[in-house]
Amino acid sequence: MTNSKKSTKKSELKGIELHVKGIVQGVGFRPFIYNLAVKNTITGTVCNTSAGVIIQAYAEEDVLNHFTASITAEAPPLAQILEIQSKPLPTCTPFSQEFQILVSEENSSSATAIPPDIALCSDCLAELLSPEDRRHLYPFINCTNCGPRFTIVETIPYDRPKTSMKVFPMCPACLQEYEDPSNRRFHAQPNACQVCGPQLSWYRRDGVTDSSKPSIILAVEALLSGHVLAIRGLGGFHLSVNAFNTEAVSLLRKRKNRPTKPLAVMVKDIDTAKRLCTISPSEEEMLLSPEHPIVLLPQKNTDSPLADNVSAGVGDIGIMLPYTPLHHLLFHHNDCPEALVMTSGNISGHPICISNESAIEQLADIADGFLLHNREILTRVDDSVVKKIHHGFRIFRRSRGYCPSPLVINHSLPEVIGCGGGLKSTFCLGRDNLTFLSQHIGDLFNLESYTFYLESVKHHKNVFEIEPEVAVRDLHPDYLSSHFAESLGITVYTAQHHHSHAVAVMAEHGIDHDVLAIVLDGTGYGTDGTIWGGEILLSSLTTFKRLGHLEQLMLPGGDKAAIEPWRMAVSALYHIYGRDVFSSSHLPPLLHHVEKSIRDAVLSMMENDFNSPLTSSCGRLFDAVASLTDLRLYSDYEGHAAMELEALAQKAPASDLKKQIFSSLQKNYSPFLCKKGGKWEIISSEFVKMVFNKKSAGFDVSQIAFDFHIELICAISKLTKQLSEQYNIDTIVLSGGCMQNRLLMEGFFYALENLGLQVYTGRKIPVNDGGISFGQTIIGGLHHVSRNSDEGN
Ligand code: ZN
Ligand code: ZN
Ligand code: FE
Repeated sequence: MTNSKKSTKKSELKGIELHVKGIVQGVGFRPFIYNLAVKNTITGTVCNTSAGVIIQAYAEEDVLNHFTASITAEAPPLAQILEIQSKPLPTCTPFSQEFQILVSEENSSSATAIPPDIALCSDCLAELLSPEDRRHLYPFINCTNCGPRFTIVETIPYDRPKTSMKVFPMCPACLQEYEDPSNRRFHAQPNACQVCGPQLSWYRRDGVTDSSKPSIILAVEALLSGHVLAIRGLGGFHLSVNAFNTEAVSLLRKRKNRPTKPLAVMVKDIDTAKRLCTISPSEEEMLLSPEHPIVLLPQKNTDSPLADNVSAGVGDIGIMLPYTPLHHLLFHHNDCPEALVMTSGNISGHPICISNESAIEQLADIADGFLLHNREILTRVDDSVVKKIHHGFRIFRRSRGYCPSPLVINHSLPEVIGCGGGLKSTFCLGRDNLTFLSQHIGDLFNLESYTFYLESVKHHKNVFEIEPEVAVRDLHPDYLSSHFAESLGITVYTAQHHHSHAVAVMAEHGIDHDVLAIVLDGTGYGTDGTIWGGEILLSSLTTFKRLGHLEQLMLPGGDKAAIEPWRMAVSALYHIYGRDVFSSSHLPPLLHHVEKSIRDAVLSMMENDFNSPLTSSCGRLFDAVASLTDLRLYSDYEGHAAMELEALAQKAPASDLKKQIFSSLQKNYSPFLCKKGGKWEIISSEFVKMVFNKKSAGFDVSQIAFDFHIELICAISKLTKQLSEQYNIDTIVLSGGCMQNRLLMEGFFYALENLGLQVYTGRKIPVNDGGISFGQTIIGGLHHVSRNSDEGN
């Protein structure tokens, strides 16, 4: 031994092996360990394996203890440590006097994780804009703390040769950074520069390249001319226009066949965001978080400079900040508008385009120009969407920045896949106490979406090394996801839609005991063959009992009624008053716009019980009320009428939610409730009657909309309180797509907490159908575990 200090203490050296699991690859974890080890004069090695990071460390015992504690305490910002296993090493002699980072191993199995894609960090942004920096204005700058991850990973372990960066050999300068443990690009897999890395290009609509000027300048010129741009981003293409230009926005809407659905807007910086929207400190923090999601924010009323057709009719606007260097470069150009519409680059109903070829082909009729690059996107990931409701952020769409982070649960699952539903599809893989909820796939109604679904399942199975032995599907036999489950040739369990919604919330919060679940939703297949959607369930993680539901109404025309809210208004009125009401002078004006012959056909349908299934859907009740308050007869997208009803209610003169809830809770709600066949019914007709009468009497429609929310919340809450006493359960979970309505969710929190109940809802998992695959995974996984243990007995 040459190192005299070490050699005199050699007898006291101990060796340990630490196995770190979680998001520890691609987040600067090995350099962090290296630096921590060097700082503490520890020798040994660190290595990425597909099972996580393995550290072998040699030092005195107290130094090792301090080192182990520091790993958790000082971990890099993007690391998520799920577990550290420690075992003593048999030999106390390191094979080298230095701490070393070893080449990644390809072996073994089990829990590892790939980090999500992260917005450009402030260090990289500073370099991007610094004329002295060698990456000045380089659109693909990144480091260990930021940049693409999940979208460029082919397989694990996460190392450059296993990513789409493998075709860009690093130049000597980049390689030196990559290999220098003290550099902030040490082992940053997507590291690149102008000399060696990906490049931008500009294509005209006819697919011919144009290099007459820098691509960014051509793009900004096109935006200023009111053109529609297709921009290749991190997880797919965006379609973009100047958000201040009404004509450009309507051109995009027309070409994309998206007449009214709100469009997301990317703004230059946080100050621009504050000029357009009312933003709380926590919302500002969320906009600037490493995930950089779209945050739904209330638009400022005072003469917003945004084109009014960006979010027509709906109160909130989806705002995000630039998250790739390319976005920053666009806004850095002096002439670039400070707000750009950035909507998914896809044909309506199809998944977003990810390759240059598919974009040029599919978006040819939509985009006037294409801002492209040559770093391949291997996994499609949309922008995530969040909204702050009742003290917390609720995730409406969980994709970029969040996927594929695992969610840890309380239970141990077999290798299982929850296949999801039909709308807003996702799937979820589970193994042991980890679950991996997929990115948002979209509505699973056509071949293109289904192909995306299949590709994503394959990719997730591959990178997380999960080969399901159990599949869980929705009760609905005709969902493509149900067919997929049945096609796998493994054990299949079914889970009822609203039970899956409930369990998603329970499992996210680690609730193992029975709860009462209030699930207000669009549609889900019920165990009795009718369509459910306004349910109070007694729910455990594996079973449920339907204790109550909204009164069933006929859904004339089946699925058609979901896109034609007037049908539900007609159904409700017919149910309450019979045919005569339609010749009454009190019929809300909007309903007169439905052609009489069509309305009569719908009435006959119901009279003859033809194609008019029964539904307890809360979404459909909102549709009926939206038509009765003259909002709309037809919906352009799922939840359209309900979103407008919420926006209308927020304009009510007396709209102090908390105050109105507390005073209404004093009322007797028994006229709204009845018990039939052992189940409670919340009488939807009573709400409809109330709305109809107030409308006839000339009340303010916004107040009618607001009061409808209050009455619904209070009636359901009072029934829930009664059930909580009967069943001795005071934990309530809120779920279902309708809970994305801020008034509803906050109102339920106020009401139920006021009644002494404990209330939970989704935070990391969407309460809409994007979350049901997670619920399914738990329900089916636990069923399988208990079935196997029963068989073992
Ligand atoms: Zn960075
Ligand atoms: Zn380089
Ligand atoms: Fe649902």
